Amino acid sequence: MTVALTPHQLLETHFGFREFLEGQEDVVNAIVEGHDALVIMPTGGGKSLCYQLPALALEGITVVISPLIALMKDQVDSLLEKKIPATFINSSLGQSEMNDRIEAMVRGEYRLVYIAPERFKSERFVQALAPLSIALFAVDEAHCISQWGHDFRPDYIRLKWALKDLGQPQVMALTATATPEVREDIIEQLGLGKFGRQPPSVFVSGFARHNLTLGMTSSKGRAEKLARIVEFAHQLKTGIVYCATRKNVEKVAAHLKGEKIPCVAYHAGLTDDQRTKAQTKFMNGDCGVAVATNAFGMGIDRADLRFVIHYDIPGSIEAYYQEAGRAGRDGEPSRCEVLYNYADVRTQEFFIEGANPSREVIANLYHVLRRLGSHGPIEMPIAEIAELVPATKNSMAVGSALYLLERASFIQREYRQGSRTYTTRLVEPIKPLDELPIDFERLDKKRERDFAKLHRMIEYADHHGCRHHFILQYFGDTETGEGCTVCDNCLAKADSAARFPTDEETVAIQKALSCVARVDGRFGRGRI
Ligand code: ADP
Repeated sequence: MTVALTPHQLLETHFGFREFLEGQEDVVNAIVEGHDALVIMPTGGGKSLCYQLPALALEGITVVISPLIALMKDQVDSLLEKKIPATFINSSLGQSEMNDRIEAMVRGEYRLVYIAPERFKSERFVQALAPLSIALFAVDEAHCISQWGHDFRPDYIRLKWALKDLGQPQVMALTATATPEVREDIIEQLGLGKFGRQPPSVFVSGFARHNLTLGMTSSKGRAEKLARIVEFAHQLKTGIVYCATRKNVEKVAAHLKGEKIPCVAYHAGLTDDQRTKAQTKFMNGDCGVAVATNAFGMGIDRADLRFVIHYDIPGSIEAYYQEAGRAGRDGEPSRCEVLYNYADVRTQEFFIEGANPSREVIANLYHVLRRLGSHGPIEMPIAEIAELVPATKNSMAVGSALYLLERASFIQREYRQGSRTYTTRLVEPIKPLDELPIDFERLDKKRERDFAKLHRMIEYADHHGCRHHFILQYFGDTETGEGCTVCDNCLAKADSAARFPTDEETVAIQKALSCVARVDGRFGRGRI
């Protein structure tokens, strides 16, 4: 008779880990007990084990949905090294390899199968999967299902239909994004706890990063910010400076080079080749400092970064914490600092307006296109079209509105490589604006939410209490950080509260107070 191993024994024998990381054990137990689950952990928190381990304890195969094709192979290779039968099925495979894997899956040769969401477009694929005994359907990067999330992928919407075809197996959803709307959306769309299954368990853990000193420095202008960055780079050597715009990346990088601090610049305006070179140089350790926009992120796995500075205030706490969290992956003390100037908020507002065009902008653009397009295809760069649209100077908003009108089948656009512009044509028959399938209410709500997220970020910058606590509360993590020893506010409090003034300081304080008394408190601090 074989005795089933406990989760803890599976952890040791198969994965070679002695202990669970924070939160993992509760998740694993809930899954093994048959609950659907929503797991929210930051990147690097150990989410994969939360489905890989139950996959060994449960009868049947565990299907893992992941949009990150490049990472799938690594995950499968590492499982195979541990002698856990696993494979992946995605567009990187040729047809015959794909068929071989599907057949092996049907024969029950794998415990885990990683599948890209777009596979579920194929009816044949879903039919091949349907008769299998699926123990667990694990949806990684589950925020991609939500249009409120930052990375919506239409292919994820299909998953709920796939689940129906597969007989509604047990589901777990995993993500590092945790805003309440996104959470509700995931639970709703994947039907967690529905169809007669146990109520879903929601787990939030692992957001605390005790080795990061969080701070904020008010900066009057560019010179102050640059001086602070130079100070950090000299003292701490390795880190990333995040900027909101390409222009700022170029300026900061130029300044650092002028100060003889080697750095790489990284943003979406560079060629693929330039970006790869910059990334490789930084990852290899040939260069200690990267100055980048948020395009620099995915796949940055350099553990020894001692600082992350935000030259401009980011647009949300999620964005901030994900970027700041790249510091100190090796667990060593590291510093994260926002260089804050209220005027920079305008840049983020501009981005939000750009990503969420108002009804007025869409309507104005609609009329401009109707006029221009009635004579034939429109061949103008977006900036030129934007000049013709009343009520906005934001060409990014016009770009987003063009995308919406294209999705609503009012126009068709074709990218012309050589001239790097689009050819835009009206789609016949031309429909009136109010007959186009554009959900204006949803767009308005999304803009409001994006602004609300920015305001939370501003609150963080202005916050006088514990910054770790603020962030943990934001993510709904139950661990509290109140009274930490590693944020600027708590450090300052500890500094002033922990000791009595020295004799010399006492005399200075007495003199100052007596002076205030003698002038009847009529003068300010400077004068006194
Ligand atoms: P996520 O998917 O949340 O970003 P991963 O699943 O990739 O995180 O895990 C991050 C790292 O933590 C991996 O290197 C993994 O091997 C390691 N890890 C996971 N669980 C444990 C554990 N119980 N003990 C030690 N290391 C672990």
